[in-house]
Amino acid sequence: MNLNPVHLYLHIPFCHQACHYCDFHFSTRMAGKSELVQSLIKEIELQKDYLGTRQLSTVYFGGGTPSTLSLSELSSIFEVIHRHFDVESGAEITLEANPEDLTPAYIQGLKQIGVNRLSIGIQSFHDDNLRFLNRNHDAEQSVQAIRDAQAIGISNISIDIIYGIPGNDVGMLEHDLAKAVGTGVQHISAYSLTIEPKTVFGHRLKKGQLQESPEQNMADYFEYTHQFLENKGFTAYETSNFATPGNESRHNSSYWKQESYLGIGPAAHSFNQTSRQWNVANNAAYVKQITQGNIPAEVEILSPENQINEYIMTQLRTHWGVDLGYLRERFQSIQAAFPEEEIVSWISNGYAVISEDRLKLVGKGKLIADRLSAEIFILEDSK
Ligand code: SF4
Repeated sequence: MNLNPVHLYLHIPFCHQACHYCDFHFSTRMAGKSELVQSLIKEIELQKDYLGTRQLSTVYFGGGTPSTLSLSELSSIFEVIHRHFDVESGAEITLEANPEDLTPAYIQGLKQIGVNRLSIGIQSFHDDNLRFLNRNHDAEQSVQAIRDAQAIGISNISIDIIYGIPGNDVGMLEHDLAKAVGTGVQHISAYSLTIEPKTVFGHRLKKGQLQESPEQNMADYFEYTHQFLENKGFTAYETSNFATPGNESRHNSSYWKQESYLGIGPAAHSFNQTSRQWNVANNAAYVKQITQGNIPAEVEILSPENQINEYIMTQLRTHWGVDLGYLRERFQSIQAAFPEEEIVSWISNGYAVISEDRLKLVGKGKLIADRLSAEIFILEDSK
């Protein structure tokens, strides 16, 4: 067993079209794709020592839409990964893909390259919702893509579902969840629709042309989703992520377990226990800097307070919870007062429980995980 797992993330910043809710970094102009792939390859070479070790437990292609890359572009990236890293046997290798790209030939090619997990951006099985979100596929294509991947032997598939789309009700959510479970996938990421300011929906909201789902509905959908999927044998191992036994995403879990990872590509983040860094979120600026041999990243050295706050924030969202023994030690190491009172009040309000010295959120606590975390954050000047 690898006791010090480290991970590689590659950000592929291209999409066929812009979804109306999306504020990730991507471009719909494919003209610069080959140049960018060359820069990704060069950045892998430049950053190969960042993690201190070269043995990778997981490789994750995210975006954007990684399935906009051709098989030969992906192969050339894989070739460089294998040249500079030792990819653990049995490593989890995930590619995010959209249904419209997943032809049988493409899936077959992915499998040959070494991809053993697909994360498919499905979002809804209602065509009206897909049109409203400006997705580039329909429900039938989604179902077909999953079937094809299963037939070809990709046995670890995740799909994304968005709930709380304006005009939807619980019945529509039930249909989406039932359909998702019915496809036989092992992993479902279910997110509420959040409207970000710099998106088409954000502009529509500002102009009064769009109304968000009421907060209470969102809370009901959240609870419904958890109950529905848990009844079907999925565990909510993180607030928005559900898996059948043994199929939790190892890559995503690495973020919540605070394992080190290297992010390659524009807007990609890296973490090595003591600092975080993030690349410029601009394709042209990224390519220019990488071509000159520079890593276009900003770096933040994490103070002990920040490290503790990140631990609280990430762990509280997981079903493993916060290790109270470890947390006490960390608070003590910087002479900060342990938040005993807050934790007691969470328990008496039914937001959390303690089991085997781990603090875990339950019920409504899961819905307000971020707010609760903030209640016990250490402010740097408050000790
Ligand atoms: S496909 Fe994904 S990354 Fe691209 S615009 Fe849509 S949601 Fe955003």
